[in-house]
Amino acid sequence: MNSNSLYERAKKVMPGGVNSPVRAFGAVGGNPLFISKGEGSKISDVDGNEYIDYVCSWGPVILGHNHPEIAKSIESAIYNGLSFGAPTEIEVLAAELITSSVPNVDMVRMVNSGTEAVMSAVRLARGYTGKDKIIKFEGCYHGHGDSMLVKAGSGALTLSAPDSRGVTHGTAKDTLVAVYNDIESVERLFCENKDEIAGVIIEPVAANMGVIPPEENFLTGLRKLCDKNNALLIFDEVITGFRLCFGGAQEFYGVDADIVTFGKVIGAGMPVGAYGGRREIMECVSPLGGVYQAGTLSGNPIAMTAGYTQLKILSENKEIYNKINNLALKLEEGFKRAAGELELPMWVNRVGSLVSVFFTKECVENYKKAKTSDTGLYSKYFNYMLKEGIYLAPSQFEAMFISYSHTEEDICKTLDAARKVLGNLKE
Ligand code: PLP
Repeated sequence: MNSNSLYERAKKVMPGGVNSPVRAFGAVGGNPLFISKGEGSKISDVDGNEYIDYVCSWGPVILGHNHPEIAKSIESAIYNGLSFGAPTEIEVLAAELITSSVPNVDMVRMVNSGTEAVMSAVRLARGYTGKDKIIKFEGCYHGHGDSMLVKAGSGALTLSAPDSRGVTHGTAKDTLVAVYNDIESVERLFCENKDEIAGVIIEPVAANMGVIPPEENFLTGLRKLCDKNNALLIFDEVITGFRLCFGGAQEFYGVDADIVTFGKVIGAGMPVGAYGGRREIMECVSPLGGVYQAGTLSGNPIAMTAGYTQLKILSENKEIYNKINNLALKLEEGFKRAAGELELPMWVNRVGSLVSVFFTKECVENYKKAKTSDTGLYSKYFNYMLKEGIYLAPSQFEAMFISYSHTEEDICKTLDAARKVLGNLKE
């Protein structure tokens, strides 16, 4: 058994051989690796190769793979039964930890993915305000709910298919698209759609068109515009939540959101998402209010156990954030140094433990600038780095995720490999 033969079999029985499009390596060429095991900062494939992993399951694995405490907690939970469809203590513990630590989240509802969290948050914003339209930003990805598949990032961006077939015009017309880091584009939409906008949804740090930090005053500008227009500000913290710091982007930037969505880190690698907000907003959710939302497996005890264990570790050891942010800073500085020495047109963005390298000399501050990156060069870079034992996202428009298991040695090896690969690319 090896990756290539598994891929051939997979393609016969699964669309593209995968269960999520970017995994197919379509943007970088070649066949995907089939992973057999993860341990700390490393993953191994079925072919027997080991890689330093910067995908980290696209974010959830913030402590590293196969964390002993998380593995043990799940092991003890499974013998009590996998799912009941009835309340359990672990859901209360998780909700108490989240509501006591994340600003403006008085109540939280668990779901099974980031997509579900966003779909529910958008419905809630509409239900609470009684208005229909939502503003999102070009290149921001909020999962694959119909109303969010308009000018989306991540896989949709890579595949150059920002608008999915199957999304009706009726749905798409209620999604208005603004330009990231351009407050005037948002102001214009509010003016043109007076009293029709339920909310603005944003990745407070854009991380699905590559990493793009919010410019100073951009998030506070959104807050003011939402207040002025009686609209809700939705922070999609599926990536940033519990990653930038325990309180997420709200705490990191000191900006208040009305509804916050979570995913990834909240489940430690198990299928968990959540949305939360101020009490009077969350009281609109069923069974208290008229905004319906439900789930057979929501708050699943095994998933909650994994997530709660990870969140508890993160909440009790703030040093974790210093370490991952510092390692990411070393990467950022190393990439910039290498690009400077080799005189390569490269732009590096970093926020906390999220890093992106773009092959452009433009300052990457929005979707248009991100698209100036030479994706052909990224694909060569990706494949050469893979040969050097470094597993990067198989797409330009994603983040590198640093975990607490990454070491200084991992970072040095990665930068050595990058210098070599970038040198070859220049020739
Ligand atoms: N929101 C953001 C910011 C994301 O990055 C993602 C996934 O990458 C989602 C929502 C959707 O989450 P999921 O893939 O768990 O459905």
